[in-house]
Amino acid sequence: MGNMYSFVTGKNGQEIKVGYGVPTTCEQPRCTEKIDRGLGYLCGSVHGGDEYSCGGYFCGQHLYMAPEGHLGNRCILCRDNGADPTEHSPDAMVVTFSAS
Ligand SMILES: [Zn+2]
Ligand SMILES: [Zn+2]
Repeated sequence: MGNMYSFVTGKNGQEIKVGYGVPTTCEQPRCTEKIDRGLGYLCGSVHGGDEYSCGGYFCGQHLYMAPEGHLGNRCILCRDNGADPTEHSPDAMVVTFSAS
């Protein structure tokens, strides 16, 4: 037996079993593609996710190249989030004082 799986702590603090020996299904809603929890299907570069990725597992159809300068792959949501850092919705930062 090789090192087919290991355990990491996920973003929610729960221990998750990861690795090529762990079968799972693509986490994209409505996708039923059978994959495993190997790095090849991981969103991000570390199991459990990091600040740029959710740590989910997606099939080849739902994984995209990470933005330049980043490692690993990204799911569609994380790719869009990381695509343009200047796009961080300015509206959220604007406080409007409209005292009438
Ligand atoms: Zn993701
Ligand atoms: Zn998929």
